[in-house]
Amino acid sequence: MSGVVTAYIGLGSNQKNPVGQIRTALQELDGLPQSQLLLQSSLYQSAPMGPANQPDYINAVAALETRLSADELLSALQKLELLHQRVRQERWGPRTLDLDLLLFGDQSISSEHLVVPHPGLGERLFVLQPLFEIAPALVLPNNQAVAALLDGCSEGGLQRLGD
Ligand code: ATP
Ligand code: MG
Ligand code: MG
Repeated sequence: MSGVVTAYIGLGSNQKNPVGQIRTALQELDGLPQSQLLLQSSLYQSAPMGPANQPDYINAVAALETRLSADELLSALQKLELLHQRVRQERWGPRTLDLDLLLFGDQSISSEHLVVPHPGLGERLFVLQPLFEIAPALVLPNNQAVAALLDGCSEGGLQRLGD
């Protein structure tokens, strides 16, 4: 039996009413078995990573308290992506919903289908800014502080949306 873990999840959408997609997904995260939404960041708007000929993204980060294992949580996140009619096309191409497992407690995981902390976490402003908003004192398993990563992040172009 594994205990309770706080997982951080990065949400992104740039198709079919992205703000609505993110709001709905936050509620769905809260509804996952053996899980409870602890915190959610503001919504942010970011320029697309990768292919530029696609709309801006809406991003957020959520803290989820869960008794699921990391693999079970990843499967649950992928089911939610499918529920949102996500179609997998080109890498980093437009999508209705992307749910990335950023952190799973203090665990470092590296399997064929799951790498935690998420490899992009350290350099993506659209992840670091909302993560810092809800967990300003958070430190990664490798002892890097989110605040320091945010300070050193050279990426630009993130806009916080009003409520
Ligand atoms: P990126 O991961 O760079 O943000 P992406 O989110 O567009 O890109 P996806 O198409 O959503 O990539 O995911 C591709 C694969 O990444 C998934 O099939 C999943 O198995 C794998 N993966 C590895 N680590 C993680 C993680 N921490 N969270 C989510 N998916 C992960
Ligand atoms: Mg992603
Ligand atoms: Mg993803």
